[in-house]
Amino acid sequence: MRLLVTGGAGFIGTNVVHQLISYPSVERLVVIDCLTYAGKKENLDLLKSNKRFKFIKEDIRDKQAITNVMETEQITHVIHLAAESHVDRSIESPCNFIETNVLGTFNLLESCRSAWAGKWENHKFVHVSTDEVFGSLGREGSFTETSRYKPSSPYSASKAASDHLVNSYYITYGFPSIITNCSNNYGPFQNKEKLVPKVIDNILLNKDIPVYGNGNNVRDWLFVKDHVNALWLVLNTGEIGQSYNIGGDNEIKNIDLVTSICDLVDKRLGRLNGYSRNRIKYVSDRPGHDFRYAINSDKVQEELGWKCVYEFELALDLTIEWYLRKKINKFTHSNRKKKELVIE
Ligand code: NAD
Repeated sequence: MRLLVTGGAGFIGTNVVHQLISYPSVERLVVIDCLTYAGKKENLDLLKSNKRFKFIKEDIRDKQAITNVMETEQITHVIHLAAESHVDRSIESPCNFIETNVLGTFNLLESCRSAWAGKWENHKFVHVSTDEVFGSLGREGSFTETSRYKPSSPYSASKAASDHLVNSYYITYGFPSIITNCSNNYGPFQNKEKLVPKVIDNILLNKDIPVYGNGNNVRDWLFVKDHVNALWLVLNTGEIGQSYNIGGDNEIKNIDLVTSICDLVDKRLGRLNGYSRNRIKYVSDRPGHDFRYAINSDKVQEELGWKCVYEFELALDLTIEWYLRKKINKFTHSNRKKKELVIE
């Protein structure tokens, strides 16, 4: 397998690359990433001297550049993660979401279609998407692979559009693609704008912890390493033309997640229980905020044998430990910033 991971310097991409690089069947692992605010090349520093690994700073909006990589690296498999991924940013400025998520995906499909022309077998394109394409649920039920697409934000609409494009390539050309729709991930290497790292960061900086609306919105949370395991199974044994839902069967209200993080951080810092909860501040709700997502993962479990192996409380605590260590390392290397960090 000569594997291309797009967006490999982002949150999920970094976790994918660190895990898959050690698998013997991965003869070559190439990352394309244009390093937006969410991509960090240093996430992949440990792999610099690995001869099977290559990082290429390219933008998926540049079709010729992608085609060159496909050909020179003789790519056989793709895990497509590169995307603009922050819902709030998509509300402020949707244009990048259309350009990267829709046009960028189109470029990749076209580059693969020409590079793999007439020899689909032994090639695979896994398009990584989100449960947000299905829109919002009421208090009951969960999304299956046949749920109707009903995206609410420019982010989820752009992901939905890219899912439809990928599926159309399978239907029209027999293109060897598979789509995955996953719930919210947590774990190491996530950008600090996202909920879990943001709460940890604000606790450490003694800042308010903003929670949208009344905090009762529900998300299903999955540890990123469980997601990586699912993607590897899909890449190897998933059926071409299918889509697979991936979730943690772990529905949590936003406010409950935030209070759990507060309590786990306080415990690790030896603070009195409830110390950080006092910093929670409810703020005006996000426009078009989906009330609830829940994923039915029966198909990927029954057909591909995937199961979620990380227990939520433990994996969340490990995640917190990772961010605390990262923060402490950073501060010990920067006297200037030391003043900002308040650990009592
Ligand atoms: P992320 O924002 O952390 O990382 C995205 C990466 O893509 C970054 O490294 C960025 O530099 C890169 N990128 C952005 N635009 C690019 C472009 N034009 N060309 C090349 N590289 C570009 O996102 P993430 O959380 O790792 O999500 C990865 C994928 O998984 C996304 O497609 C997202 O929709 C999907 N997903 C994420 C979650 C989640 O909870 N994080 C859940 C389900 C699905």
